Amino acid sequence: MRPVATPSGENPRRAIPSVERLLAAPAAQALVARYRREHVVDVVRDVLASVRRTATGGVPADAVLLERVAGRLAATAVPRLRRVVNATGVVLHTNLGRARLAEAAVAAVTEAAREAVNVELDLATGRRGERDALLADDLCALTGAEAGLVVNNNAAAVLLVLNTLAADRDVLVSRGELVEIGGSFRIPDVMAKSGARLREVGTTNRTHAVDYRAALGPATALVLKVHTSNYRVVGFTAAVDLAELVAIGREAAVPVFEDLGSGALVDLTAFGLPYEPVVRERLAAGVDLVSFSGDKLLGGPQAGIVVGRRDLVARLAVNPLRRALRPDKLTYAALGATLRLYRQSPDLTRDLPVLRWLTRPLADLEATGRAAAALLGSRLGDGYRIEVVASECEVGSGAVPVVAVESRALAIEHADVDPDRIAARFRAAHPPVLGRIHDGRFLLDLRGIFDPAELAVDLGS
Ligand SMILES: *Cc1c(COP(=O)(O)O)cnc(C)c1O
Repeated sequence: MRPVATPSGENPRRAIPSVERLLAAPAAQALVARYRREHVVDVVRDVLASVRRTATGGVPADAVLLERVAGRLAATAVPRLRRVVNATGVVLHTNLGRARLAEAAVAAVTEAAREAVNVELDLATGRRGERDALLADDLCALTGAEAGLVVNNNAAAVLLVLNTLAADRDVLVSRGELVEIGGSFRIPDVMAKSGARLREVGTTNRTHAVDYRAALGPATALVLKVHTSNYRVVGFTAAVDLAELVAIGREAAVPVFEDLGSGALVDLTAFGLPYEPVVRERLAAGVDLVSFSGDKLLGGPQAGIVVGRRDLVARLAVNPLRRALRPDKLTYAALGATLRLYRQSPDLTRDLPVLRWLTRPLADLEATGRAAAALLGSRLGDGYRIEVVASECEVGSGAVPVVAVESRALAIEHADVDPDRIAARFRAAHPPVLGRIHDGRFLLDLRGIFDPAELAVDLGS
């Protein structure tokens, strides 16, 4: 950068051009043709302000300042939310947007985004309709529920249920189920915000039917069961069987609500995967309401789904909070398309990315790994060792806890390069590739990588 010479003794700040002078330059006019004028002016001001703060030895030429302006404008034009390659080994990674949508759901979102859609219009009568009518049919068919309703996420679903059914009254929860999920969802905090009073039952490791019975009283509005999906108390434990909990609720005429977290719509063991509670089974066991996420194992968009008794769902629907928690048309489009796949697809492992990832045979992962290793070899540079190794991945987002799913990974090592540095190089690629460090080695998990080219990114030098 060549500073403009300033006559000796003069204050170098004098030489700082005005905003008007810079904007009059042809290079600035080209920027104004490309970006909103106010935005260009703001960035010019910022650049001049930083020159003013730092100019001790002189002021750069106008052309140099305008290059800085152009650079900053280009940087602000880059989307902050970007495509990344998930080779972390966590299939439903909350930091990476959880489930990737099925193609049918992507198409439905695109259409709903581009066109007018009947989100609240009953096409048969021409009158105003209910958003939830768009999904009720599929939700009931898939879960055996009488009714269902959708909000923005499962945390919102829990809040809505507690506020509607138990504000200013008692909710019984086992101490062993007062969980925190994802570092921000804590049952006691959500309960407090809902206005319901938490009545802890039992102890952290053992809760018995007699504990629930003893806690029941005239102020009890609800029995809450939380699927402790992201951890498990092992050893000397006892949890009250669901059927027994349902019986306790029935005797006292108190509804039982289960926050299932992930909530599978199909039995995952049929695909050779670990067991995860199935929504239909919980309702069949007599639970009055069940809530679960749309973007965990279900494999759809972020949403919170509540299904169960018609009279209780009807009460949720008229709570004013519900208006504040309602999803937009894009969510209905994506969730509707995903639910229809569950009803209609003859092969969910083909059509639903979450299940396609989880059920992929290891030989397939190994083949992808060998092809990716061959492509990556030259891009990494000298001295790198790449091999396909056995690894374990997890479903993530609190689904199927503790149980790991067998996987394969590319291990990338260099005698003189720290695994953190290797990870940073992959993160800086276009698109960024995210792996993990395990036992001092950088690993790229292959379960979600179908095309070896996804890993063969430009790594710079
Ligand atoms: C994940 C989870 C939640 C929160 O669901 P979001 O859809 O992320 O809001 C609540 N309860 C349980 C048991 C969960 O696993």
